[in-house]
Amino acid sequence: MSLSIKNFDALIESQKKAAIRKAKREEKAALLGHKKKAKKRKSKSRRIIENGANGTWPTFAKNFRDKWRDKYGSSLCFLNDICGGLGTDAGHIISRRKRATKYDERNLVLLCRNCNWSDSNQDGYHDVLVARFCLVFGFDLYDELVWKSRELCQQDKMDMFHIGAIAEDEIRVRGLTLL
Ligand SMILES: [Zn+2]
Repeated sequence: MSLSIKNFDALIESQKKAAIRKAKREEKAALLGHKKKAKKRKSKSRRIIENGANGTWPTFAKNFRDKWRDKYGSSLCFLNDICGGLGTDAGHIISRRKRATKYDERNLVLLCRNCNWSDSNQDGYHDVLVARFCLVFGFDLYDELVWKSRELCQQDKMDMFHIGAIAEDEIRVRGLTLL
């Protein structure tokens, strides 16, 4: 069905009227000094600052892995006698979801990819890891970390920048390149 000439004219007429109304609204707004709202540019979310490339967590984890290798003179996984793997990951003893202990280096061990995965996904694996942790570093430290992990910890973007900057400095001081 095609538009009849009459309807077409009516359509054009209503569009013209709408344009006139819009022009009048804009004229009035200009007269009153109303400005069109400028679109705000959204800043990066904390999640991106924390986990993006060169973000807080990747930088912190790299620094931790390097320090661990220096300190213990070994690149082996913390559970190497069980898995035989090389340490590639900074693995949390108390879940990384607990923010109060997420960036506490005492809460981290060097793990291979397999152990880090199994820790979160394989029944009983976490208990083995905790038992080994207590054997090596002492139950008191584990207990302290458990208590600390329960503390309320609100970290904003500035905290993320700050933690990342400290890790970057430590990496630089050791003369290593960043990620
Ligand atoms: Zn392993």
